[in-house]
Amino acid sequence: MSAITNHMPTAELQALDAAHHMHPFTTNDALETRGARVITRAEGVYLTDSEGNSILDGMAGLWCMNIGYGRKEMAEVAARQMMELPYYNTFFMTTHVPAIALSQEIAKLTPGDLNHVFFASSGSEANDTNIRMVRTYWAEKGHPGKSHIISRKNAYHGSSVGSGSLGGMSFMHAQGGLPIPGIHHINQPDWWGEGGEMSPQDFGIARARELENKILELGEDKVAAFIAEPVQGAGGVIVPPDSYWPEIQRICDAYDILLIADEVICGFGRTGTWFGSETMGVRPHIMTIAKGLSSGYQPIGGSVVCDEVAEVIGATEFNHGYTYSGHPVAAAVAMENLRILQEEKIVDRVGSIGAPALKAGLEQLVDHPLVGGLSIKGMMASLPLTPHKESRAKFAAEPGTVGYICRERCFANNLVMRHVGDRMIVSPPLVIEPEDIDVLVARARRALDETYTELKRQDLL
Ligand code: PMP
Repeated sequence: MSAITNHMPTAELQALDAAHHMHPFTTNDALETRGARVITRAEGVYLTDSEGNSILDGMAGLWCMNIGYGRKEMAEVAARQMMELPYYNTFFMTTHVPAIALSQEIAKLTPGDLNHVFFASSGSEANDTNIRMVRTYWAEKGHPGKSHIISRKNAYHGSSVGSGSLGGMSFMHAQGGLPIPGIHHINQPDWWGEGGEMSPQDFGIARARELENKILELGEDKVAAFIAEPVQGAGGVIVPPDSYWPEIQRICDAYDILLIADEVICGFGRTGTWFGSETMGVRPHIMTIAKGLSSGYQPIGGSVVCDEVAEVIGATEFNHGYTYSGHPVAAAVAMENLRILQEEKIVDRVGSIGAPALKAGLEQLVDHPLVGGLSIKGMMASLPLTPHKESRAKFAAEPGTVGYICRERCFANNLVMRHVGDRMIVSPPLVIEPEDIDVLVARARRALDETYTELKRQDLL
């Protein structure tokens, strides 16, 4: 066995990493020339890298570290569960206590009659389940032709063939023959980027009506479901105008199509209530969950399904399942995460303290010459960068060039912020304290100032 440890020189770790480790969404060239940042430890909202830097994690990992790093209870629960029952499956009429307990707890927390959970290990897997589930539902009800699914451009629903097809990212569709047949994408409700001269409210209605038009174009008897994130995350934290979701709900009700809310980011407190569907006032038939379900301490996700759909699906055998569906260690750790979220009132605290503090902090950045506005819901936010605030203009450079420069300046200032195109994204652990939000804002301002200088230097402004 090789003895690769945190104590090795960073350059050596980077070279080995570039030689053998294939990274998601990364080029070999970047790995070889610059080397990946090696993260060695984390505590609370701070990461430590192999050079000893203390980095504020303004992204909660990949939007998942809701309770913050370093909670010992989570490790203890995992160790206990591994000693008692490290693995067993839930196929062929077997079950175990962690899966029973977690599904009951999720059913209690989710709204309405979302009372049934089909487990997966990730959001991608759960969305693949959803594709097969909604098509099977309508087939079992005698409507096999009701199989088309409508999603949105620039949505993110995962990276597997099915979930990547549901997603609306053209650069992902360009690789590997996506989307699969029967998936359609309407425009997103991105008023800042695409609203032009329309008022946000009119724009929200117009974009929602695209769903109605698509249903009419395909035929009501052909459409199984509409899927959307309550607030688009990876697409750039796009908070829809208030008029959008009520109109979407009306259309789903009117045409008898299933509504799937992808709560992988919004779920478990991110928007200030337990689920983004509650914040946005929608009633889904199915919710996709992952990330905040375990705060990233274990890989686990699932589809939370309403009574009627679960009954129809369960009436025959649903020929679908994953080796790790309801994995006992992942389920026990998720259960402990839900205990911490509830007993420490972390979701309530987002509404009363975290979200208002984050909003107040980020609003201070809106006067920066590069910042075109603030899009925020709970503790997910984006700051679109622009050369001209009033007209919400785009930069002349290739989209993403400026965002990338800013992301690198954030990193250099020991702050993780992500860029989606030229929008800067913030989504910190839900437990971040107001004084750490001050640190985040101060570092972001420095990064923005340095970006401004760099843009001038490169003649990009
Ligand atoms: N849906 C949404 C809304 C997501 O943000 C993500 C991941 N960023 C996924 C699905 C896919 O989840 P996973 O990466 O766990 O497969």
